Amino acid sequence: MEKTRFTGNFTQQEPIPEAGIDAALRVLRHGRLHRYNLAEGEAGEVALLEEEFAAFTGAAYALAVCSGGYAMANALRALGIRHGDKVLSNGFTLAPVPGAIAAVGAEPVLVETTSSLTLDIDDLAVKAQASGAKVLLLSHMRGHMCDMDRLMTVCDAAGIKVIEDCAHTMGAAWNGVPSGRHGVMGCYSTQTYKHINSGEGGFIVSDDPDLMARAILLSGSYMLYPRHKARPPVDTFEKYKYLTPNISGRMDNLRAAILRPQLADLPVQVARWHDLYVRVEEGLRNTPGLQVIERDPRESIVGSSIQFLLPAADPDQIETFLAATLARGVELKWFGRKEPMAFTSRYDSWQYTTAQSLPQTDAVLAGLIDMRLPLTLSAEAAALIASIIRDEAMEIAA
Ligand SMILES: *Cc1c(COP(=O)(O)O)cnc(C)c1O
Repeated sequence: MEKTRFTGNFTQQEPIPEAGIDAALRVLRHGRLHRYNLAEGEAGEVALLEEEFAAFTGAAYALAVCSGGYAMANALRALGIRHGDKVLSNGFTLAPVPGAIAAVGAEPVLVETTSSLTLDIDDLAVKAQASGAKVLLLSHMRGHMCDMDRLMTVCDAAGIKVIEDCAHTMGAAWNGVPSGRHGVMGCYSTQTYKHINSGEGGFIVSDDPDLMARAILLSGSYMLYPRHKARPPVDTFEKYKYLTPNISGRMDNLRAAILRPQLADLPVQVARWHDLYVRVEEGLRNTPGLQVIERDPRESIVGSSIQFLLPAADPDQIETFLAATLARGVELKWFGRKEPMAFTSRYDSWQYTTAQSLPQTDAVLAGLIDMRLPLTLSAEAAALIASIIRDEAMEIAA
């Protein structure tokens, strides 16, 4: 029998909504692209977007910046991280996370990964004690959240401040609390492959007026910070305005204009992602040799990607599986491959950091397969993709 084949695309995003295109054209026509270049009485697209993002997350303050990586480095600087300091972070994440730590001259202390793909909280406690690190840059990698209640109890007891990397969890929540709202600062990305798309961009949210005043000054506000709307009171800035370097990383009005309608649509998109995710997950469940990552009922997820494990397969079998699925149009990523490819790298490819050994993470990554779920996929496509993966996983398990 002829094998079924998927002919669609895993990296094609949806177009920018018409309302975003119209708003972008208005900005282009008036020409005031810089966030502080405002007409009399005008708030500006960036300031309005920040106000809307603060409301979306429930945070007191929000700042829009030029990328998710910039957001994390800015947050580390706002917390006072300096050259040579140690920063705890996930052993399993993507390159912008250790990159943000390196950007401030700090040293990552990498924490092990559980088979649920989350940060191992027991190992965190051990590594925190041994390193003396007082900041955790926690990556909700591929949308998987650890037990945030337990994590915050452990971190609060040890005096560890948490910055959340929510690049994959914008719109997600743990136990009813939005991702990004557990730690002292939450960082997000609006890069094309994330949940809202401005090509490049990011956010920081916080309830802490001192941290946010520093973050705004760091982002390159000059003495124009009163023009922000989702900001702490102006007198908070008085304490820091001569002491905080300007490390430009602002967002511009053009990007903000295309993001505002997308943010308004995000709850609808989250529901669509959930449907796609569940469809693929259901199609993969109970496949011999394949382990679905069961989600904690306290997690409210944004299913923009899905992961599964092939725990018993050896590297040759996984290469066979990847080639067979690719031949049927399904392009999967494997985190166990020794050589990094495209966006996926492993902690042992970050050789600018001190070499670290994470045997438990190695064992998880060895069988870890990853797939994006862009909203351009139909429900039928999702079911077809799951059936192709299922067939080929059974082939190598046989
Ligand atoms: C994309 C991403 C970021 C931020 O990336 P930018 O490209 O700098 O916006 C941060 N963390 C993770 C895990 C990511 O995948």
